[in-house]
Amino acid sequence: MTNTFRFKADDEPGRLAALRRYGILDSAPEEDFDDIVALVKSIFSIQYAAVTLVDADRQWIKAAAGLEPQQCAREDSFCTYTIRSSEPLSVNSTSTDPRFMHNPFVTGEAHIRCYLGAPLMTPDGYNIGALCVFGTEPRAFTDSDKEILINFARVVVSQIELRQAANRDSLTGAMTRRNFENQMDDILSANLPASLILLDIDHFKTVNDTFGHPAGDLALKEVVNCLMKCIRRGDCIGRLGGEEFGILLPQATGDTAMIMADRLRTTVMAKRLAALDHRSITISLGVAERGGREPAEDWVKRADLALYQAKETGRNKAVQMSRQVASV
Ligand code: GH3
Ligand code: MG
Ligand code: MG
Repeated sequence: MTNTFRFKADDEPGRLAALRRYGILDSAPEEDFDDIVALVKSIFSIQYAAVTLVDADRQWIKAAAGLEPQQCAREDSFCTYTIRSSEPLSVNSTSTDPRFMHNPFVTGEAHIRCYLGAPLMTPDGYNIGALCVFGTEPRAFTDSDKEILINFARVVVSQIELRQAANRDSLTGAMTRRNFENQMDDILSANLPASLILLDIDHFKTVNDTFGHPAGDLALKEVVNCLMKCIRRGDCIGRLGGEEFGILLPQATGDTAMIMADRLRTTVMAKRLAALDHRSITISLGVAERGGREPAEDWVKRADLALYQAKETGRNKAVQMSRQVASV
């Protein structure tokens, strides 16, 4: 069965939001994906196989066989062409194809001469990347080759979905609390500087009472999408409870996190939510920069105190709690 009828071709913001929801960009290597590319490489008897994800301005490689995973500019990526269609892209001779003959991977040291890519289409119809094979000799890919790659691309998407189900909250696509706490532990054990934002939606009970719980659910999704668009690459967002979220900002000082918190606040406030008859809602935020070798509990407690203050002093606010103030 083909997915063609579901393919959303011209919705780049939706595509990027779908990709971000998976939280897979810049993730560590995972054996399941490494195994698939190794198998595909050997089935095709070809030099290279890769699972690529096409971000706004770059192509990032989740798994590769035959080469070191590395990212490249989107404009130099072959897979950025593949994701424009629901069908595989076959390039038998890159040096005579006007789309690729000037590509640095063709003209340069990599000397790529053939490419076959199958799009990774999500169940909601977005091509987030590709499973591809490529090599240094021209090659006539057959229909059977395409069929094989399409089937493996489906396996890759299933794997991405499974990964998501294990680590992500099913309603909003934010990390599960447990996964978020693991991320915090990583920061703590590496003793890296970071800041934490805790945020809670204001008067959400009233939203449910007014519009109903299902509309409340949709509003939650819209708010999280909005937050995901604002945060920086490398930041992560977790659903810690009903309508309470945490955002972890590696490397950020408290002041930088305050700027982010205020941006999140104003962006959410400005967003008219389709689920709520185009009305908007507000959020309150608490910010804490991790101090020295402070234990996780104390760090979270300070962010929570700051959030409490934001609520107490009128909501729709971001408040920062420094260690000095917290210890008074
Ligand atoms: P405030 O935070 O401003 O003090 O007021 P609030 O009304 O938001 O109060 P509180 O944070 O204590 O309550 C959260 C409400 O959010 C209660 C619950 O019904 C609702 N809620 C929690 N999880 C979900 C969810 O998954 N979907 C929907 N629709 N509502 C939820
Ligand atoms: Mg609330
Ligand atoms: Mg709450």
